Amino acid sequence: MKFRYSESVPKRTDNPTAAILKAAADPQVISFGGGLPAPELFPVAEMKAACDRVFDHNGQQVLQYAETLGYPKLRRQIVDMMQKRGVQTDVPNVAVVTGSQQAIDLVGRMLINPGDIVLTEDPTYLAAIDVFKTYGAHLVGVEMDEAGMRPEALAQALERYPETKFIYTIPNFQNPTGRTMTADRRAQIVKLAAQAQVPLVEDDPYGAIRYAGTNLPPLKHYDQDGTVISISSFSKILAPGLRMGWLVAEQSFMEKFVQLKQNADLHTDNLTQYIVADFLDNVDLDQHIKKITDVYRHRAELMLSQIDQYFPASVRHSQPEGGMFIWVEVPGTDADELLKVCLKNNVAFVPGSAFFAGKVQPGTFRLNFSNMDDEQIRTGIQRMAKAIQTVLA
Ligand code: PMP
Repeated sequence: MKFRYSESVPKRTDNPTAAILKAAADPQVISFGGGLPAPELFPVAEMKAACDRVFDHNGQQVLQYAETLGYPKLRRQIVDMMQKRGVQTDVPNVAVVTGSQQAIDLVGRMLINPGDIVLTEDPTYLAAIDVFKTYGAHLVGVEMDEAGMRPEALAQALERYPETKFIYTIPNFQNPTGRTMTADRRAQIVKLAAQAQVPLVEDDPYGAIRYAGTNLPPLKHYDQDGTVISISSFSKILAPGLRMGWLVAEQSFMEKFVQLKQNADLHTDNLTQYIVADFLDNVDLDQHIKKITDVYRHRAELMLSQIDQYFPASVRHSQPEGGMFIWVEVPGTDADELLKVCLKNNVAFVPGSAFFAGKVQPGTFRLNFSNMDDEQIRTGIQRMAKAIQTVLA
């Protein structure tokens, strides 16, 4: 059959990132490529207990169709979590979604017409780039530095593209760079977006996984007139296989959002919502997050010290205070070429080229530290160091 695909189906059939992750799945390969949390930290026993309680008390209910925007009790718990993060909201403004990825997709579907401009940090989250392009967006990268998206660069971009549809930002421990936007910049960026009347989409799956420095309020905290749509997730604080995320937005947006969510899947898995709600009632989430951050702090520090010890002196890297990624630049290399040599030496990463909306910075790449143990981090970084020497020779 020769299918006549819609315009939203990508033309290309190769998928370089999938190819890297497939190569990295070989057990011989030490992979810093994926973005997987540490599975040994998943609260399996506590989840099982929650699941048992849910079936014992609400067996019929959880197997039935349910409300499109989510289980009200879980939405109330999310309201309370957001309040602790510095955001005042209420149940009608919260939607439970099938992973924050679904929120990104639905926001794209709601706001983008083919040809529309979307502003993003450059580099940014690969799967957001793919979604926005699927809906026909023209992505314009906004320059960032160690302190996140630069407000001056955003102001210029908004002036140049006054018809911008929305701004997409990952303020905490950004994927792929691990960088965090300062509080000053958060306030400035929300103000710029509000002045330009351009929605600001804040994607924050990592903010709770902070192992150094002090928590900063979400962009939504600074929002006075409904400019900010805030997306977050249980993937990194509980488990990604649950596919449980949420979106917070003002009322008029929610009225439209509910219709698109309904079209997509009627509602997020009801059973899992009950399990997460029960888990939150019975387990100290902050204590659980502390366990995660203790392990990630150690792994990040180990990886950074190995990089400083074994990579050439010219190397630059981000200094993440949380999350799962380090961004590295090895001047004088091409990261796509470096990856080929690394794969021969059984170590993998994702080259920077995957993450740029605009011009690629050669020699940049993303390393994940959450999913590997100490020995793998040491061996993997030393293998990479040898490959870098080969490439630079
Ligand atoms: N946003 C960012 C920045 C991510 O890195 C990820 C996944 N790694 C997601 C969204 C999607 O997460 P999930 O759907 O599991 O909540």
